[in-house]
Amino acid sequence: MKKRLVVAGGGHAHMMLLARIGDFIERGCEVTVVGPSEHHYYSGMGPGLLGGTYQPEEVRFATRLVTEKLGGKFVEAKVQAIDPDRQLVSLDNGEQISYDLLSCNLGSQVPQQMVDGPLDDIFLVKPIERLLGAQQRILELGISKTVKIGVVGGGPSAVEIGGNIWQLGQTPGMKPVEVTIFAGRKLMPDHPEGVRGRANRSLQQRHITILEGTRVTSVQTGKIMADDGTEYECDLIFIAVGVNPSRVFDDSGIACGPDGGMSVNRYLQSVTHDNIFGGGDCIHFADQPLDKVGVYAVRQNPILVHNLLATITDQPLKPFEPGGSYLLIFNLGNQSGILYKWSILFGGRLAFMIKDYIDRKFMRTFQALEAA
Ligand SMILES: Cc1cc2nc3c(=O)[nH]c(=O)nc-3n(C[C@H](O)[C@H](O)[C@H](O)COP(=O)(O)OP(=O)(O)OC[C@H]3O[C@@H](n4cnc5c(N)ncnc54)[C@H](O)[C@@H]3O)c2cc1C
Repeated sequence: MKKRLVVAGGGHAHMMLLARIGDFIERGCEVTVVGPSEHHYYSGMGPGLLGGTYQPEEVRFATRLVTEKLGGKFVEAKVQAIDPDRQLVSLDNGEQISYDLLSCNLGSQVPQQMVDGPLDDIFLVKPIERLLGAQQRILELGISKTVKIGVVGGGPSAVEIGGNIWQLGQTPGMKPVEVTIFAGRKLMPDHPEGVRGRANRSLQQRHITILEGTRVTSVQTGKIMADDGTEYECDLIFIAVGVNPSRVFDDSGIACGPDGGMSVNRYLQSVTHDNIFGGGDCIHFADQPLDKVGVYAVRQNPILVHNLLATITDQPLKPFEPGGSYLLIFNLGNQSGILYKWSILFGGRLAFMIKDYIDRKFMRTFQALEAA
């Protein structure tokens, strides 16, 4: 009987797996990919998408098209739960899919406990595709009035979102866009002083207000409430307060790490279920908890492919080595960035151009499968 491989989520850690679907089919597997949309959006280019640097087709990968071209089946739905004993995945459309082998790349989500009421004119920075709706809304409002925008969060994504909203506000014919970043204790507290200083200067030169030492307690459509009792009126609000791994594993009784990500061993294999693998933001790498950055998801690609193929062919598994420090480049909008790794640190146009080159190259590599 054919082995059933279910690929849950087509994110950054599954790009190579999707490209190699044919190898699994050749070895007698039936491959089903499950994802909430026909496309996967590359988050590293999300702020640039919001700011108008990129068009949607430049930052997305056609998951359904590629899956079907390579002989797999694509199911447009969200994984809601996994029953590891019965080897079943339950989807939000009511369907259930059986698996012999399951690989999970379900990503992460922005916590929204601080939101009081509906999400009207409130945008979480994930899923990335929602940033397109945010862009349209800013352009629509900006035709007739000054648009006040609050960005809640003080980390890199808040900085990137704030800087790119400013860029969008430079669209000809727009009334001014006023951006305030509610940075909490301070802007980019986990980054070196040189990075913080550059981010602060870049944003302030463009009259983006940075509120430090103020904690946001709740958010409603049109309003941000701070812990000192002050209320700030905003037309649109972005929430960029970090991410939590998908809740699917915790809800399914699969062993999880302290952050709720599926706990995996050095082979990226669930510590409790050896026919479940995973990568990206949705896992907790038990040996060494990893930052939630795309770099690790990308580095996990070849290991996931190898270990899934090895499992069906009874070959030895390969361990994942997270590697040393990684290159970080932030897109601040206005064609400027900040780049740092080890003691190398610089900002400006060159940093943006390097990020743009790397990101476009990554996308083109996998988008080539769409045309093949
Ligand atoms: C605004 C922003 C900018 C960022 N910029 C960078 C950067 O420049 N460099 C960097 O290294 N990192 C960056 N990050 C972090 C990076 O995005 C994540 O670490 C990376 O996306 C993790 O990859 P992933 O594949 O695990 O998750 P995702 O990229 O989120 O992919 C998960 C996939 O699973 C799908 N999915 C989700 N839930 C389900 C479900 N229930 N069932 C089925 N499918 C599902 C999603 O649709 C998506 O296609 C950024 C994050 C944000 C929010």
